[in-house]
Amino acid sequence: MNGFEYLEEELQEMREEGVFRTLVPLESEQSAKVVINGKEVIQLSSNNYLGFAAHPRMKLAAVKAVEQFGAGTGSVRTIAGTFTMHEEFEQKLASFKHTEATLVFQSGFTANQAVLASLLTKEDVVISDELNHASIIDGIRLTKAARNIYKHVDMESLEQALRDTQNYRKRLVVTDGVFSMDGNIAPLPEIVALCEKYDAIIMVDDAHASGVLGRNGRGTVDHFDLNGRVHIQVGTLSKAIGVLGGYVASTQSVRDYLIHKGRPFLFTTSQPPAVTAACSEAIDILLEEPERIERLWENTKYFKAGLNKLGFDTGKSDTPITPVVVGDGAKAHQLSDKLLEYGVFAQGIAFPTVQKGKARVRTIVTADHTKELLDEALAAFEKAGKELRIIS
Ligand SMILES: *Cc1c(COP(=O)(O)O)cnc(C)c1O
Repeated sequence: MNGFEYLEEELQEMREEGVFRTLVPLESEQSAKVVINGKEVIQLSSNNYLGFAAHPRMKLAAVKAVEQFGAGTGSVRTIAGTFTMHEEFEQKLASFKHTEATLVFQSGFTANQAVLASLLTKEDVVISDELNHASIIDGIRLTKAARNIYKHVDMESLEQALRDTQNYRKRLVVTDGVFSMDGNIAPLPEIVALCEKYDAIIMVDDAHASGVLGRNGRGTVDHFDLNGRVHIQVGTLSKAIGVLGGYVASTQSVRDYLIHKGRPFLFTTSQPPAVTAACSEAIDILLEEPERIERLWENTKYFKAGLNKLGFDTGKSDTPITPVVVGDGAKAHQLSDKLLEYGVFAQGIAFPTVQKGKARVRTIVTADHTKELLDEALAAFEKAGKELRIIS
C-alpha cells in the first residue's frame, strides 16, 4: 500500500547504518537456556533475574487461577474488573514494601505515566535525572507541571534545581533506583537528604531493583535503609518478579487519588487472574527463598570479573545489569550476532536507547545460570571479541 514511503526512507537509512533490527522469537520458555532458530543458546538478555518467569510454583499458581477464575477479567478495575485477588495482592505488596498502600497497574510503564500525569498541576514542578527511563520521560510529557532536568546522578545539579524552583507549590524529584542501561544505583541517601532539606517529594522507579536489591528484594529504599522517607516507589512485576505489571507503593491517599485520576488505571482492563496469582506467588517465593537473590549476586560478580579479565569495558555497573560497551552501534550488533552464532543470546543496544557512541551488548545473568554456563558464555565473548578486535 502507498502512503508510507517516508517511513521506508528512514528504515532504509537504518539498514545502511547497520542498526535495523528484526525481533528474535524464542521457541522455548524463558530460562537460563532458550531455543532460538531451533538451537539451544545461553540467555543473557532477559530481565528474568531470579528465574521466576518459568518457575514451577509460578506456573502452577497461574494454572490454578485460570481454572478457578478464568482467562480474563472482563472489565477495568473501577467498573467490574476488581477481583478479591487483586486487592489481596495489593495488601500483600504493601506489607512487603512497608508502605501504607499499593496500587497495581498493567505495567511499570503505565504506573509511571499515572503518577506523573495525575499528581502534579501547573503550580508544581517535576525535577528529573537526565537518564531516567523512557516511561518517566513520557510521563513527564503528560504532566501540566513545569520540568527541570538535572545532570545524571549529579547532586550539585540536583541541589541547583531545588534552589531554582522554590516558588512552586510542590516539587517532585524523580529518579530510577537502578539505571536500566548502565546498571548503576542512584545515590538515594543523598537525594533523600536534599529533598528533605528543600521539602520536595521523592519518587523512585525501582523497576530493576524490585526482587534484586534490599532485603528479600524489597528495592533500593530498603537497600539504603530509607523506609518511610521516600514518598512514592514505583515497582515492576515484569522483571525479577517474572510476570507482567507495575505498581505504586505509597500512602493510602495516593492510592485513592490514583484510583480516581490515574488514566492508565481507569481506562485499561485489569490484570488477568493468572497474572495476579503468579505475581502473588512470586512475593511468597521471595520471602521463602532469599538464597535465589544471593545466587543472582554471586553469578553477577563471577561473570563481571570474567568479562573484565578478558579486557571488556563493563562501564560503571553495580548491579546484575552488565553492559559490554563497544561504542559504535553497528559494532554492538555485530558482536551480538557473533555471540548468537557461538551459542549466546546477548542483544546489542544502540541509539536512541543509549547515547550515540555508547552502544553496547547488554547482559544480565540470572540466579539460574550455572558456573558452567557462565564459563561457556565467557568463552564465546572471548572468541567473538577477539574476532571483532574489541579485545586483544
Ligand atoms: C522496565 C522499566 C520500566 C517499565 O516496566 P514494565 O513493567 O516492563 O512496563 C519502568 N521503569 C524502568 C526504570 C524500567 O527499567
